[in-house]
This record gives sequence, C-alpha cells and structure tokens, in this order.
Amino acid sequence: MENKLDGNAAAGPLQAIFPFEMTLVQATCTCCGTTNAIGAVAAYMHGMGAVLRCPVCDTALIRLSHTKGRYFLDMRGVRVLQINAEAQSTTV
Ligand SMILES: [Zn+2]
Repeated sequence: MENKLDGNAAAGPLQAIFPFEMTLVQATCTCCGTTNAIGAVAAYMHGMGAVLRCPVCDTALIRLSHTKGRYFLDMRGVRVLQINAEAQSTTV
C-alpha cells in the first residue's frame, strides 16, 4: 500500500542524498512542463522509499528507493532541477 502525501514527506531520504534542501528545489516535469517545488508535488511513500509525482499529469518525477545499503534514484521524469544556491541546507 502507498500513502499519498506531499513532497515534504520525502525530505528525509532526499536529504540523505542531496546536499541542499530538496523540498525547495523546483522540478520541471518532462511530460507536461509544469514546474513545482519538490515539497509541493505528490509523494507516495512505501517501505523502501518514495515516488514523487507531478500534480498535473501524474508522471513519476523521482523514484527513490533505499535497499541493501544503496540508494536507487530514478529521475527520468525531471527535465530540469532549479536549485537556489541561497537556500542550501544548513544542517551540514
Ligand atoms: Zn507533469
């Protein structure tokens, strides 16, 4: 079973991979071209990770799983990531 949440729910696993605050990063969907903050997209959490989906066309933007000591990151649904250099994580 998957639970539909928003992208903020995936902040933890994303923080383990990316050195910046991913919920504030803007992602452009490859399918429909809509740009949304990762924190605002639909997130489906499951036992091994999460699937982040475009709120407009439901394309899987980011698939993230954590298994056997590795992170698997499938970002084929993202055309562009816009990372605000001023909004980097301060938790380093
Ligand atoms: Zn889309």
